[in-house]
Amino acid sequence: MAERDYDPSLEFPGFENPEEPEQASQIKRQPFSLVLLKSAVLSTKRRVVDITQHLEVSIGRDRPTGSSSSPRLRLKEMAVSKYHAILYWDAQRDMWGLVDVGSVHGTFVQAEGGASRRLSPPKVASHPHFLRHLDVITIGGTHLQCHMHPGKEGACSQCEPNASNLIPLTYPDAIAQKESVPEGHQGTTTVHEGRLAHQYMWTELLYAENI
Ligand SMILES: [Zn+2]
Repeated sequence: MAERDYDPSLEFPGFENPEEPEQASQIKRQPFSLVLLKSAVLSTKRRVVDITQHLEVSIGRDRPTGSSSSPRLRLKEMAVSKYHAILYWDAQRDMWGLVDVGSVHGTFVQAEGGASRRLSPPKVASHPHFLRHLDVITIGGTHLQCHMHPGKEGACSQCEPNASNLIPLTYPDAIAQKESVPEGHQGTTTVHEGRLAHQYMWTELLYAENI
């Protein structure tokens, strides 16, 4: 094909900086949010956990410690172990995985229309369980639904993040004692995230009417 036939407007735009070193924010991942359905310990005023921007997010009762740099969704009840489970991006499989790291009371996953399944016996770490859209994760008294919309779809009305519906995550002391509500999502690469900035404006307005 002669060079003059090349039409840049037909080219797949690609993802920003695909060759950059592996920074967490630059690895392409399937958009993944958790939507809070019901909880014994979290207020349902904030309903969305935006997982996509992280390579892994742990779940547990206590503040994360030690060498881990991943943030944690804290569920402060005794049915939840101090460090209970972890969600992580599996680049080989292109899927989000969930592992129970050896909790006492278990991690349960229910696929849409299926039965609830415990991932491992008490105090035994589970094999990775690969999550799908609309799976419901139950840990203690908290039920979280997985939302993984393909790139173009972005998000639905339930998982659309905005400035006031994000459930804050807790970072290890060594990193910073700050919450994870994103500040404009700079440096992120997914379609889902790229759309956030301008969606904030109107979703905030919509949300304000529902409080
Ligand atoms: Zn959704």
